[in-house]
Amino acid sequence: LHKPVVVIGAGPAGLTVGNILRAAGVECVVLETETRAFIEQRPRAGVLEEWAVRGLEQRGLAANLLERAQRHTECEFRLGGERYRFEYRRLTGHHHWVYPQPLLVTDLVHEYADVRGGDIRFGVRDVRLHGLDSDHPVVEYVDDLGEDRLIPCDFVVGADGARGVTRALLTPDRALVSRHDYGIGWLALLAEAPPSNDCVVFGIHPNGFAGHMARSPEVTRYYLECPPGDDPDNWSQDRVWSELQQRLGANGAPPLTEGRLIEKRVLDMHDYVVEPMVFGRLFLAGDSAHLTAPIAAKGMNLALHDAFLLGDALVAQLTKSDSTGLTGYSAACLGRVWDYQEFSQWLSEIYHGTSSGDPYLAGTTQARLRRLFSSPAAGLAFAEQYLGKDPEY
Ligand code: FAD
Repeated sequence: LHKPVVVIGAGPAGLTVGNILRAAGVECVVLETETRAFIEQRPRAGVLEEWAVRGLEQRGLAANLLERAQRHTECEFRLGGERYRFEYRRLTGHHHWVYPQPLLVTDLVHEYADVRGGDIRFGVRDVRLHGLDSDHPVVEYVDDLGEDRLIPCDFVVGADGARGVTRALLTPDRALVSRHDYGIGWLALLAEAPPSNDCVVFGIHPNGFAGHMARSPEVTRYYLECPPGDDPDNWSQDRVWSELQQRLGANGAPPLTEGRLIEKRVLDMHDYVVEPMVFGRLFLAGDSAHLTAPIAAKGMNLALHDAFLLGDALVAQLTKSDSTGLTGYSAACLGRVWDYQEFSQWLSEIYHGTSSGDPYLAGTTQARLRRLFSSPAAGLAFAEQYLGKDPEY
């Protein structure tokens, strides 16, 4: 019954850790509240940084991705009725990958469960952790048949996202939780419509920010800034398309290709960081440890960064009794986490300054944008942050 590692949550973080453990022959079990079909279809992220894809490739997890993902080399800002192209590959030699999160999760589950023979249990309930500050933690849960189960283990990976149970265990006496609220909502939309531009578009408009991001030849993600807590039902199909056309409209840009909206929900933009990401034998990874509002498309990348470090550190501990990776885990993750948090904040001011109603903020936003388009040094600095710094793997 004993397992060296129990992973809570089958998102990108948990499944990547599970795959790394299985590749090294380490036994583990992944517990997930949802069904396999549900997690393989849940739409979310799509932008992956080059180093993250290389990290997946080095661990044998990127075969489908490299065949099917699109390379993005430029983005476009639209403001004041004009289009400003930002060619980041020309500046840096680097690009983004676009691969929808459900496809990545499908690949990771398949590789873990069907190829590497990993144990994954779907539809679990009431996950509880005991003895985390001892050498013998126990994970308790109710299985999909309603039976109470116990798994004694050596380590627990808390990869259960922003709404899971593991983060709640890092109470104020065990960790510092820093939180930032932007006071802004984004209506996150998925449209059954082909992309209307050959790259990502950011619309900076007095009505509010709007974003256009390709997901596949048939599906496009759009965002519309809205009041936090707004009701998605306030946004009819007609209202959504009329605002998108207005906020993303510019001279020489063809109108957006409209389509049925297949996802429509309001995200209240906020961030948090849990420090340290460890308590006793519990190691947090991904959104359970740090949330980055999707402003800069960083969350899945950070989840993968944690997972690479934690997977490798657990393998070193369990196969060679080398504890160096686990000891340095939290600090090694948090450097990148704070870097991306700061960039999200900076970018938020660019996206939302013009619509803030504050003429001073609108003025500084315009100055930042002018600098971005006119100074190669400012452009290069932005591109590096936008693409994500390459770690040494
Ligand atoms: P999750 O993907 O949330 O996985 C956690 C898993 O744990 C889930 O399957 C959940 O069902 C399960 N779970 C929860 N509670 C329990 C429990 N008690 N027991 C067992 N299992 C549990 N990031 C990017 O990098 N680029 C983007 O372009 C981008 N766009 C985004 C757009 C939107 C609209 C949203 C909402 C997010 C976006 N993100 C983006 C962020 C990205 O989706 C997340 O950062 C990423 O999913 C985090 O992965 P994770 O494995 O940590 O958590």
